[in-house]
Amino acid sequence: MNYYAEPIARLINELSKLPGIGNKTAQRLAFYIVNMSEEQASDLARAIDGVKEGIVYCSICGNLTDIDPCGICSNHKRDNTTICVVKDPRDVVAMEKMQEYDGLYHVLHGTISPMQGIGPDDIRIKDLLERLKNGQIKEVILATNPDVEGEATAMYISRLIKPMGIRTTRIAHGIPVGGDLEYADEITLQKAFEGRREI
Ligand SMILES: [Zn+2]
Repeated sequence: MNYYAEPIARLINELSKLPGIGNKTAQRLAFYIVNMSEEQASDLARAIDGVKEGIVYCSICGNLTDIDPCGICSNHKRDNTTICVVKDPRDVVAMEKMQEYDGLYHVLHGTISPMQGIGPDDIRIKDLLERLKNGQIKEVILATNPDVEGEATAMYISRLIKPMGIRTTRIAHGIPVGGDLEYADEITLQKAFEGRREI
């Protein structure tokens, strides 16, 4: 038996596919949307459409952006001698919130994970090495998560970069082992960042 009118059931179904949204929350959100003004509801729908149409990956750093190169890569006030290497675009947001770092980024879009069949060629390591070739970069900060995959990825990259004579550092373990960069609070992340060491 169907308890809801079809469009509401469809909305609940779509919302419940989102991470962290259970059926109850999906119902609550759906009824909230039903009660929104027409304008509010179409603003929401347009915002969802907008991220699918207008967002691309920056051709230099791999971050999500609506203009290519992204606002960080094209900002001449930023320190263009330092690259911070992270796993995904959410980590760039976490680092930017910290307001301590003003260098550039390189988003790998994953970490090396033999268990999941993800090798070095499956993430953006080659693009990183390409960026280092022009001799402008003086330091590469490896800020992958302090879990097994993140550590393995950092070690792998540092071995490739060291022979190029570039300072290679790893963020400290202010972030709990097995933790996620994205969920670290700003102070913890700042401490981890300040305590980075050569690897
Ligand atoms: Zn960029």
